[in-house]
This record gives sequence, C-alpha cells and structure tokens, in this order.
Amino acid sequence: MTAQFDLIIRGGICVLPWGEAQTDVGVRHGRIAALGVPASATAAQTLDARGLHVLPGLIDPHVHLRDPGDASIESIPTGTKAAVLGGLTAVFDMPNTSPAIIDAATVAWKQDYIERSAWCDMGFYVGATKTNAPALAGLETARGVCAVKVFAGSSTGDLMVEDDASLERVMRNGRRRIAYHSEDEYRLQARKPLFKRGDAHVNHMAWRDEECAFLGTRRILALARASGRPAHILHVSTAEELAYVQDFRDLCSIEVLLNHLTQVAPDVYDRLQGFGVMNPPIRGQRHMDAAWAAIRDGIVDTIGSDHAPHPRAAKLKPWPDCPAGLTGVQTLVPVMLDHVNAGRLSLGHMVDLMSAGPARIYGAVGKGRIAAGYDADFTLVDLKHTRTITNDWIVTPCGWTPFDGLTVTGWPVGTIIRGAMVMRDGEVLGAPGGKLVAFRA
Ligand SMILES: [Zn+2]
Repeated sequence: MTAQFDLIIRGGICVLPWGEAQTDVGVRHGRIAALGVPASATAAQTLDARGLHVLPGLIDPHVHLRDPGDASIESIPTGTKAAVLGGLTAVFDMPNTSPAIIDAATVAWKQDYIERSAWCDMGFYVGATKTNAPALAGLETARGVCAVKVFAGSSTGDLMVEDDASLERVMRNGRRRIAYHSEDEYRLQARKPLFKRGDAHVNHMAWRDEECAFLGTRRILALARASGRPAHILHVSTAEELAYVQDFRDLCSIEVLLNHLTQVAPDVYDRLQGFGVMNPPIRGQRHMDAAWAAIRDGIVDTIGSDHAPHPRAAKLKPWPDCPAGLTGVQTLVPVMLDHVNAGRLSLGHMVDLMSAGPARIYGAVGKGRIAAGYDADFTLVDLKHTRTITNDWIVTPCGWTPFDGLTVTGWPVGTIIRGAMVMRDGEVLGAPGGKLVAFRA
C-alpha cells in the first residue's frame, strides 16, 4: 500500500487561523492536504511534534541580504541560512544592493539567482528611482516581486525619491501596495550641521528626530490619499505616526520593527554604541510604549527585522561615520517568542503579525495560514526552551548581533518549507531549495 501522505506532523499544538488546536497535519506534494489526520493514516515520514507548537511558516518581510554586494558581510546564501536557523520560512529582500534592483535586467538576475542559492523562499522588492517610474507598473508584477520600495529619506545606498513630484509620479505608475522608508530627507539634511563627528551615539536619535519621521509619513499619506495608491509604511518608530495613521487605515498599513519593541534609548546607545545605530533610530520609552499599544490595538500589520548587516570595523567608527543598520534575521523569532512568554502578546497575535500579516499585506499566494491547499510551511517552536543568544551562533558572515548576551525563553526548533525539513534542532539540512514566493498581481 502506498503512503497517503508524504509527511504527517503528529501531536503538536497548531496555531490555526481560528485558534490553537492539537491536531495532526498531513502534507502531500509540498502542500497541506488535511488537518485532523486519522491514526491509521500512513506517511513516508512522520514527525513527532508533541510538546511543540506548530506555526504557519513565519516570514520576515524586511531584510537586506546585501547581494550583490560584499559576501564577506552577507549574501543570499548566508542570509537565508540564517533565516531558516532562526525559524523563518520566507524573507522579502530589499533592493538597495550594488547594483540596485531597479530594472528588468537586475530583476531577471535576482529571480534566477534566488532559485539557485536561497535556503528559504523569497520575495524581493524593486527600488523606485527618480527615473524608472514609467517601468514600475511592469516591474511590480514580475515573478517574485513583493512590492516597489521607496526610500523617501536617505539610508544605505543611493536609491532616493524625496520630492513630492517624484513621489507622486511613482504612485501613479502601478497599483500594488508601495513600501516606504519614511523619513523627511530635507529635514535630515538641514539638521546634519547641528552635530559633529565624535558626538555620542545617542545623538543619532536627536539628528533623525521624531519630526523627521512624522513629517515624512504625513507627506507620503497626503500623496497616497490624492493618488489612491495603497501605502505600507515600514518601520514606524514614533508615537505621533502611530496615532496619525489611524485616520488612513483604508489605504495605509504599518510595519513595526522588533528593535523598536525591544530596545530603548538611551540604554541601547550607552551599551552598544555603533551596534545600536539604525534608521529610523531606536528612541525613548514613550515610543516603545506606543509601539506596544499599537500592537494591542491592532494598528500594526507586520513585524520585520530590517536585517541590515555591516562589518564590525565600520560599526566601530565614531558617530555618524558608523553606518546605520543591525543584523536581525536570525534573532527575530527567538526574541518575539520571548515577548510572547513575557505576556506582551499572544502566540496567535505573533502569528498574525509574522505570517498572516505579511501574506495579506503583500498578497503572497499559498502562505500565511495552516489550511488545506496552502504551502506546507511550518515553524516549530518550543515555548519552554531557554537559551542565550550569542554572536557565535550568528551565521551572517559579519558575525555579530545587537542581542548578544540576551537570554530568551521560546526557541524555533524546526523549519519546514513546502513539506521539506530544512532545519531541525539547530542543524540546517539538505541543500538550498528556496523558491520565489508568488504574489497576487
Ligand atoms: Zn530596511
């Protein structure tokens, strides 16, 4: 008799769209075939998940894998290996590489390269520039493209669309949701002379102050309202923006970063100096409290890591020469599980923010829930496992994490992608088999 399933996951507590339930999951041909599999069912492989929670595959919708770039810092093979070790089944990668992903040729290169080298499934962003607006409507529906990304304020790389006329031109070409780095470039430049080389790292948040972010978001949402083009504001970092966006929920969705929920000024700058510098900056307690309130109120749609590796030597330079950006793809799930254990949100809410949320906001097909017909992507977690995050666990070649020394409770112990076990108990298995995520056009 041939087996009825390729894989059965037995005895785990599944986080289903309608709540938690202890149920067995049957997988066939890389997809979920049945929930509540009878004990008599046979499978080529059976996984004992007793004592574990089975989550739909968790997604990090905001990573910078720096490829093409410098592979001694990070690359798609190493960054996606970090992702599966950290319990992620898919990542969405940013376009500010060198060269940047901004036209048909670079998009075609990235499609091919991902399917040869990634350990997890991937979507990727196309960068908007001041000149490629007419091509964006075509590029945003290319295979694997999760969204157009607009850098309205400067960060790593030279992709910048900062003026209203150019922003509006981008919004009027295409129709899918656009993802924004929202800091007002004019205010950033105007405030730069107020600071000098060697000032304390805490000045990062004084330079890129609340009004830089809030002004950027007000301008983008006014243009989004005028053009009718949906907006996803990435890494919202201020209490002011989180209150303001509530009047734009018909066309605006929100990402909050793990760092803004976990680290707080001035402590982060005192302890980590350059290794706490990112954009938008980590701010004071008032903003962290507002971010958690926004999660409780259901304002936040997705959580990202904004994994953005830089070499150690660069981060040791005096401020503001130390580049902004922190590693995070490997630590996103463990630190979020620790927040669950600390009672800051439920496991179901975490799944909504890290699986269902990204699938809904970006229109990912077959991702985001445990349900028959969906991809058999699972993150297996042990909610009771306590472990200390250390730099030597990090497989991103730059080799450091801002969470070095942090002890967390809750740990990803298995990563299953389209039915294949890719990580089990801290060991990466098999060969890179990542595919491009499909998105609704
Ligand atoms: Zn980013």
